[in-house]
Amino acid sequence: MVDSGANVRTRLAAAVGAANVLTESPDVEPYVTDWRGRFHGRTLAVVRPANTAEVADVVRICNEARVPIVAQGGNTGMCGAATPDAMGYEVVLSLTRLDRIRAVDGDNATITVEAGVPLAQVQQAAADAGFHFPLSLASEGSCTIGGNLSTNAGGTAVLRFGNARDLALGLEVVLADGRVWNGLRGLRKDNTGYDLKQLFIGAEGTLGIITAAVLKLFPKPVASVTALAALADPAGAVALLRTLKRGLSDRLVGFELISAPALAICRKHHPDLPDPVPGHPWYALVQIDDSGSASALSEQVENAFADAVESATALDVAIAQSEEQAHALWALRENISESQRREGPNIKHDISLPVSAIPEFLETSHDALSAAFPGAQFVIFGHLGDGNLHYNLAAPTGADAHAFMEHAPRANRIVHDLVAARGGSISAEHGIGQLKREELARYKAPVELEMMRAIKAALDPAGLLNPGKVL
Ligand SMILES: Cc1cc2nc3c(=O)[nH]c(=O)nc-3n(C[C@H](O)[C@H](O)[C@H](O)COP(=O)(O)OP(=O)(O)OC[C@H]3O[C@@H](n4cnc5c(N)ncnc54)[C@H](O)[C@@H]3O)c2cc1C
Repeated sequence: MVDSGANVRTRLAAAVGAANVLTESPDVEPYVTDWRGRFHGRTLAVVRPANTAEVADVVRICNEARVPIVAQGGNTGMCGAATPDAMGYEVVLSLTRLDRIRAVDGDNATITVEAGVPLAQVQQAAADAGFHFPLSLASEGSCTIGGNLSTNAGGTAVLRFGNARDLALGLEVVLADGRVWNGLRGLRKDNTGYDLKQLFIGAEGTLGIITAAVLKLFPKPVASVTALAALADPAGAVALLRTLKRGLSDRLVGFELISAPALAICRKHHPDLPDPVPGHPWYALVQIDDSGSASALSEQVENAFADAVESATALDVAIAQSEEQAHALWALRENISESQRREGPNIKHDISLPVSAIPEFLETSHDALSAAFPGAQFVIFGHLGDGNLHYNLAAPTGADAHAFMEHAPRANRIVHDLVAARGGSISAEHGIGQLKREELARYKAPVELEMMRAIKAALDPAGLLNPGKVL
């Protein structure tokens, strides 16, 4: 920092108004701790600009004073990427006041939104205009579109619609020196050189500050079916996925794997939720949507599941008979992370593998981890349709959950080595942040890391954007 902290705060207050520069401890507290309560930092100030020009001013001031910036949206990230470090020199740049829907273009099927709009509000604005915006996460009430793009969020409809990256056509970005890049193009074809927006998507605030985005819209589903299938094992889940893909094609939107312990934890904290096919070791929550024709969808889905039960691919199936029942089935999946948090800390992995490799991986990793940590509990769930598992390890019953966390490095090594050996990824959708920085350095090829460092040096030569995250 080349300027005094007080000086920087004064300049920031002149740029965004004193009321939008928070420095007192109770005010800044929600911004310096992550959602899981695992990372705690300190900050020079939390700055809350209201528009792109103010973001540019804040970034310019910080660049001149050599003050590092941690961008923050809804602060729901899982890897400590939006939490400042413990030194207290970093500014937290909160984007939540950039909350306008700028435009909906019906003929182009696009929506232009500012970075701080919560995901649920983007979905609602799309619905109000007669469209569907398919990105969907359990945190959608709090997470922002800027955070979704910066983490390249996945969620429950990737199988059909892709990740956040696949839904963005254009971005507006404030660069590290405060210049604004207006790349808000609503084009589905644009081969004019490097696709620069892709650099900022998934960059976790280390290359630029996203201030707005043009997103793709889709036709609203006219018919939907939600089902919970009981399964004997993960191989049964993979077989069911294959059967449903063949029978229902791209109407299959979501396919979520849930282990019995994950379901039990969710129902323990939400006893009002249903338990329609009790007593099985594994479950698949399946979402099927049709945007073209409502006719015969239910019948086709019922037939597909009947075939699956007859061939013993599925053991039992509950199909929601109303929207309310469908929401209740989804609540079983969406409340797992939050229920797990209430249970106490656990060793988490967000991994992806080729779908075909998952059953064998689960068997091998279960044996290896059970041998290393006798009695450890496995809480496994995730987006099986995308090959993405949230693979969590909790302390043995009665053991101290916090003390168990000391085993994280050893457990990570076992899990991540097995993932890497099968061509998988150590971070499927949550990113790297500060949680997995060392793991990234271990598993990425040196040439890949060199390219990443070169891009970082080109776009943020002073290293002021979210330092210590990702790289
Ligand atoms: C209950 C629960 C369920 C979840 N389920 C899923 C899931 O299914 N799939 C999934 O992918 N994630 C999931 N998440 C994780 C999280 O919600 C996503 O990572 C989300 O995209 C983060 O958005 P956010 O606005 O909260 O970002 P934050 O947590 O505030 O920030 C995340 C990262 O993005 C950067 N950033 C934020 N805004 C900007 C911006 N405008 N410009 C540049 N950088 C920025 C931050 O610096 C940080 O590096 C879940 C989280 C919770 C709590």
